[in-house]
Amino acid sequence: SETPAERTGHPRPPDLPERIQHHIDGRAVDSVDGGTFEVLDPVTNEPYVHAAAGATADVDRAVAAARRAFDDGPWPRLLPRERSRVLHRVADLVEASDSRLAELETFDTGLPITQALGQARRAAENFRFFADLVVAQADDAFKVPGRQLNYVNRKPIGVAGLITPWNTPFMLESWKLAPALATGNTVVLKPAEFTPLSASLWAGILDEAGVPTGVFNLVNGLGEDAGDALVRHPHVPLISFTGESRTGQLIFANAAPHLKGLSMELGGKSPAVVFADADLAAAIDATIFGVFSLNGERCTAGSRILVERPVYDEFVDRYAAQARRVVVGPPHDPRTEVGALVHPEHYAKVMRYIEIGRSEGRLVAGGGRPDGFPTGSYVAPTVFADVPPEARIFQEEIFGPVVAITPFDTEEEALALANGVRYGLAAYVWTNDLRRAHTFAQAVDAGMVWLNSNNVRDLRTPFGGVKASGLGHEGGYRSIDFYTHQQAVHITL
Ligand code: NAD
Repeated sequence: SETPAERTGHPRPPDLPERIQHHIDGRAVDSVDGGTFEVLDPVTNEPYVHAAAGATADVDRAVAAARRAFDDGPWPRLLPRERSRVLHRVADLVEASDSRLAELETFDTGLPITQALGQARRAAENFRFFADLVVAQADDAFKVPGRQLNYVNRKPIGVAGLITPWNTPFMLESWKLAPALATGNTVVLKPAEFTPLSASLWAGILDEAGVPTGVFNLVNGLGEDAGDALVRHPHVPLISFTGESRTGQLIFANAAPHLKGLSMELGGKSPAVVFADADLAAAIDATIFGVFSLNGERCTAGSRILVERPVYDEFVDRYAAQARRVVVGPPHDPRTEVGALVHPEHYAKVMRYIEIGRSEGRLVAGGGRPDGFPTGSYVAPTVFADVPPEARIFQEEIFGPVVAITPFDTEEEALALANGVRYGLAAYVWTNDLRRAHTFAQAVDAGMVWLNSNNVRDLRTPFGGVKASGLGHEGGYRSIDFYTHQQAVHITL
């Protein structure tokens, strides 16, 4: 009898773990109550491994270990330069295991292998960046001549709770681990339950690099159990969360009794605005990439394209033709541009939106399961044109390879359409009019704006959203600020 992998052509990477455990106080451990959950592979949709299902008792153990490492261990007391050396070793190890990491990430998430490779490199870069930043860190000192000296004393806060989603899991974990550790905190990471595989590499990497025992702890499990216990734990003073806006609201409420520090990177429905004077070929390439790369499972996806009327018909025709050429295929195949969605539950959600879209807009490409893929969570790149702003596919985050295109006549209308949703994460503007590009950027409700460009950013810049897309900004010194107390010390001269 054939295995699922043979049936569907989804080869298992060699040496998959037999089970996925927690990592607490330097040891791989099961749940106190022995509970586990099944992890599915996105191509066969069948379980390939069991992971420990963390509950309150496991989070308690992990937080206790992290507290001991914070209160009594060397990590918070090391010089920034010393922590930086360790974190540079982490980056080197991540980079050296690039292909292994990508292979595991692709297998577990369904991301195309070529794009998974880029994620490992970005994770390494996050460590390098924050390792350098804490060494370069300068804090304010103010002198009132003859009167007073005031200076800032920066201190790590304690046990940081890090809760991460399943899209680009390893990279997003690194975006929290690197600044939390660089600033001298200890951590408990709760990775997404759909994709715990790549996170199981952290313990080995951090240990080999020289991160002391107890500084890094990881509890797997469902959000409503393990995640919730971390959010409600009285000895976890700060939570950095990336995930859905709805979950963010819940976490906000549950953390309120403890007045925790919160950093929230939430959902998006980001507009790409194409004016008639834009370089249309460049705008089409970029907006295709913007919503179909990473399977459309990208928080900053340009999932609404607003196009000025004079070029609207041409844009829609050329865009739809290009969307039809996007190669859907098995995640591990280097030719694949859109792989399999992460999980059958998410697949069902995306497919429901495609059905809704059929009555809300004009389907011009895709529209469901692609030909030749009878099983697995595959979706053809799907394009709806003429989508009115009140449509659900215009308003709600789909988080898959589905895009809504809407015409506009004036700059004011474009702005109203761009801002007419609850989200405000990213915006993309395509125009050759310099003044208009900057004026539009200023007025659009978005934490991040790309003008005639796509999604590449410098790690020193703020990252975060407005409205329902987030709370607080990370990136550069803002991450350092989130993970540290800034104590003001005053002395009269
Ligand atoms: P999700 O909110 O379902 O889950 C995210 C994490 O929160 C998971 O680890 C989950 O287990 C945990 N969780 C769930 N319920 C919880 C609870 N009650 N208490 C504590 N933890 C809980 O999100 P997802 O489906 O994994 O990720 C997709 C979402 O993430 C999309 O909305 C996407 O836009 C967003 N996202 C945002 C950014 C950003 O930077 N703004 C980046 C990536 C993804």
